[in-house]
Amino acid sequence: MPNKQDTMNNNSSDAHNKIDTLIAHAGRHPETFHGFVNPPVVHASTVLFPDVETMVAGKQTYSYGRRGNPTTDSLEEALTELEGAAGTRLANSGLNAIALAILSCVKAGDHILIADTAYGPTRNFADTVLPGYGITVEYYDPLIAGDIRKLFRPETTAVFTEAPGSLSFEMQDVPAIAAAAHEIGATVLMDNTWASPIYCRPISLGVDLSIQAGTKYIVGHSDVMLGTISASERAWEKLDRLCGAMGSHVAPDDVYLGLRGLRTLSVRLERHQKNTLTVLDWLKDQPGIEKIRYPALDSDPGHAIWKRDFSGSSGLCAFDFQAGTTRDDAYAFLNALDLFGLGYSWGGFESLAIPVRLKGMRTVTPLDEDLQSVRLHIGLEDPQDLIGDLDQALKRTFG
Ligand SMILES: *Cc1c(COP(=O)(O)O)cnc(C)c1O
Repeated sequence: MPNKQDTMNNNSSDAHNKIDTLIAHAGRHPETFHGFVNPPVVHASTVLFPDVETMVAGKQTYSYGRRGNPTTDSLEEALTELEGAAGTRLANSGLNAIALAILSCVKAGDHILIADTAYGPTRNFADTVLPGYGITVEYYDPLIAGDIRKLFRPETTAVFTEAPGSLSFEMQDVPAIAAAAHEIGATVLMDNTWASPIYCRPISLGVDLSIQAGTKYIVGHSDVMLGTISASERAWEKLDRLCGAMGSHVAPDDVYLGLRGLRTLSVRLERHQKNTLTVLDWLKDQPGIEKIRYPALDSDPGHAIWKRDFSGSSGLCAFDFQAGTTRDDAYAFLNALDLFGLGYSWGGFESLAIPVRLKGMRTVTPLDEDLQSVRLHIGLEDPQDLIGDLDQALKRTFG
């Protein structure tokens, strides 16, 4: 798999290209596939060698299906360029990418610090798998910034970040955390699914392992599970080795759909952002709504960090109903929605909603607000129709 340097050398103009140009060109080599714009979907296990000498020398570009093919290389190379990484590995799902990334930088006896706002299944992996391998898991206040130094132990080897926080949307000072972690040689991980590689470039913030649930915006059409891990120079070798040892492999049809989605990521996100800002500008003034959770709003406590570290915002946000709203009210509102589907995941072209109960979700910084909340994914529909849908559901629920 080409590293960033090779890629740049193959097409030295890339170093100066802006992100939209990179998205259109990264990872494509039409000259190697008869001029076709896109790479073939390579279904493969066995790869043949011309002679036994080539076989035993281990120098042929492709040697076995599990170890990659032109389809997987294309997506990995594109993401490596977009993320400014040393290399990228694909995973079966976002959660699988998180698990592989963590396993690549911790070993028995180590201590890992994980943001208290991490995605729930990340916590489940950390709590149920890591202790069994002798790894100590500790959660930290997502707002800790450089004070994370106070939690470092001699055996701390990894710090996991996620911004904005899952369901509650707190921003983290990732550069301050990364700078502190690097003082003790720890690896910094970031779940960057919300912003995608377009609106946040974790490696430029000091992150070593930048993780995407590709299932969301990269695929973008609610039809494939995919994960990606892009690594800095210092984390790449260990990641590559671990993924190889684990037999990690993604089916070529799914990789191809990831590549196809990637090509339109920027224009889709621009519209998700615009629609979300339009919908929230209306929603914030509606009776019954207590608070909007979305760092791109001036009023959000994480706004300054978002503005400093991110170049845009996506379609995922949440709001809290006013105190006193019952669970039955919140459910009635969700059931009254027509354009917003009720479903997990997000990042596709369509709008979604789920109920959220923040109370009891954290262990370090309890969110004991006894509120009913809703997470929305604002899709690519006309925002006035989405507002109309929310409006009728609010009116039917609260009169
Ligand atoms: C959905 C999600 C994941 C997991 O991705 P899957 O592909 O569903 O496994 C990880 N992190 C965040 C922030 C997510 O939203």
